[in-house]
Amino acid sequence: MNLERRLLNEQGGPGHRGPGLPACDVPPRPLAELLPGARLRDELRLPQVSEPEVVRHFIELSALNHHVDKGLYPLGSCTMKHNPKINDEVASLPGFALAHPLADDESIQGAIRVMHDLQRALAEITGFAAVTTQPAAGAQGELTGLLLIRAWHRSRGEASRRTVIVPDSAHGTNPASVRLVGYETMTIASGSHGTVDPEALRGALSAETAALMLTVPNTLGLFEPRILEVARLAHEAGAQVYLDGANLNALVGHVRPGDLGFDVMHINLHKTFSTPHGGGGPGAGPVAVARHLEPFLPVPVIVERDGLLRLSSDRPGSIGRVHGFHGNFGILVRALTYILTLGPQGLRGVSRNAILNANYLMRRLAGTYELPHPEHCMHEFVLSGRGLKRYGVKTLDVAKRLLDFGVHAPTVYFPLIVEEALMIEPTETETLDRLDHFAAAMKRIAAEARESPQLLLDAPHGTPLQRLDEGRAARELVLRWQDPAPAPSPSAETSSTWR
Ligand SMILES: *Cc1c(COP(=O)(O)O)cnc(C)c1O
Repeated sequence: MNLERRLLNEQGGPGHRGPGLPACDVPPRPLAELLPGARLRDELRLPQVSEPEVVRHFIELSALNHHVDKGLYPLGSCTMKHNPKINDEVASLPGFALAHPLADDESIQGAIRVMHDLQRALAEITGFAAVTTQPAAGAQGELTGLLLIRAWHRSRGEASRRTVIVPDSAHGTNPASVRLVGYETMTIASGSHGTVDPEALRGALSAETAALMLTVPNTLGLFEPRILEVARLAHEAGAQVYLDGANLNALVGHVRPGDLGFDVMHINLHKTFSTPHGGGGPGAGPVAVARHLEPFLPVPVIVERDGLLRLSSDRPGSIGRVHGFHGNFGILVRALTYILTLGPQGLRGVSRNAILNANYLMRRLAGTYELPHPEHCMHEFVLSGRGLKRYGVKTLDVAKRLLDFGVHAPTVYFPLIVEEALMIEPTETETLDRLDHFAAAMKRIAAEARESPQLLLDAPHGTPLQRLDEGRAARELVLRWQDPAPAPSPSAETSSTWR
């Protein structure tokens, strides 16, 4: 489909319309009684399009971008996997989808039960004492977890602890969250194997250290082999140990972070527990804590009284609310559905296959691209496109060319500690055929870089648009139909309000 045709669809033509409604038999009230005059326009030009054309328009649009229901989406650190459609079905049940956030506890026992059971399930999976499901994203989970740590230090008269140690391989949200709670970040360099060097950690720990913030597996896809020692060192210095658990896809059913000595972690339901994400859709970043942090959890918390589940705000030490109402409730329903349909064995299979798929791809590609950290990986691995620079080709060009093979780009240029990084996470939901197709495409692209680099520099060739000005595209988003010849606005105030 070409762009011309899409614009035509958007505009339709005069007199084209979908089904009409019967004439209204209620006497109309003058609009001016219902809306202030400044809000009224004499004319509003809307596209005139017939129903079939509207349907085609949106079906076409839905397939223009690459997405996980269309093809492989191996975005490292983001777990773009297929999420079973039954989870959407369950979340759409009217009892869940239409429940009013202000309904009293008695009338929404089922909805509270969902949150309660999910919190218990996540506590069991992570090995922690209690869970809050309020935070709406991983980053907000980090903020919540750090606020809990801050409340704990304050309760012990140790408010002077204000530094958080973060390895240089961490996700950018970690230092950002540290700043948001008013703490300072201290970065430590990764050891030669890309993991935490206990000596470097020992040197960084002090009486000022509030917490050590770790990502396990780390953003190189590596498990911290000396995690127990690392956690012990931090605790001996009086610090708390925070786990960025966005990558729980690699651990579920095999390792419980609570058993490893962590004090608090967040979980990205939209990566591990079934919520489609990308494009800024809703997510959820529950936080799991050890017993000593439980008194500080956000309110309301769920308590069982007289056989009823209630939302209680009676918790004097609480850090307060971190989200309106109950967080992103629909996401919680999806996560619980996913956990219950898979069961313990199924969940264990998720991470086993995620790890197997990643190691399979890593070994297949290791001869073609540089593999700076050849250790066994967990759910993802990082290649370097450095070797292609001699042909004038960059990692970004590889990423763009992949689109011509029906594959979304891996994460590129992250983690920062690998030059020309390509961070690949195939996830557990891809078949061997898909993985082989991806490996073949990556190998062919490496050959093209040698033989016809211009092909890569001009890629993608098969998409509706070629290379975008990505900075501008993100800052000047055009998300809705715009009248190509707008009627003059009645007043400046109206136009700015309605735009
Ligand atoms: C995705 C991710 C985050 C942030 O999660 P959001 O839901 O995007 O806020 C934090 N840390 C790691 C390691 C991640 O992969």
